[in-house]
Amino acid sequence: MVSTGQLIRDHGADGGALDQWRSLAERGELVPDTVILTALHEVLGSTETSRGYVLDGFPRTVAQAEDPSGPHVDVAVRLDVPDEVVRERLAGRRAAGRTDDDPETVERRLQVYHSETEPVADMYGKKGTLRSVDATRPPDEVTEAILDALGD
Ligand code: AMP
Repeated sequence: MVSTGQLIRDHGADGGALDQWRSLAERGELVPDTVILTALHEVLGSTETSRGYVLDGFPRTVAQAEDPSGPHVDVAVRLDVPDEVVRERLAGRRAAGRTDDDPETVERRLQVYHSETEPVADMYGKKGTLRSVDATRPPDEVTEAILDALGD
């Protein structure tokens, strides 16, 4: 699995091309589409993908989803969690040290999700390739539901 957020966290301070974008991510803003697409292209180019791949956190915008050079998406899985549950969970995760989990940043991330990423889910919904998973359930049940969704 390739997590685009993890790419930013791992390589946002290593002197490479992603350095300047880490502070945007820490404020809850999205990193520019071209930056994400380029980073993902590089990672997938050097990863064994003959059996497919799972992308976590991509695409976050319609532009990412529609970019002709972007990775092919057969199935999109949306984890459905009400905003209030997101707030509670991220407040708990904050203790684990994610700097983008402070309350103001969480609010910004929710806004950005609703304005930029929800339309992506709508797009896959219209295409018939969206699978929705009730992610308020315990982690092992959610994992199973995701695997089911991917196995279709
Ligand atoms: P995540 O770990 O998926 O929650 O991502 C953490 C942060 O990294 C996000 O809030 C964004 O700032 C950035 N990020 C991750 N994936 C993307 C993406 N596909 N497009 C733009 N920014 C992203």
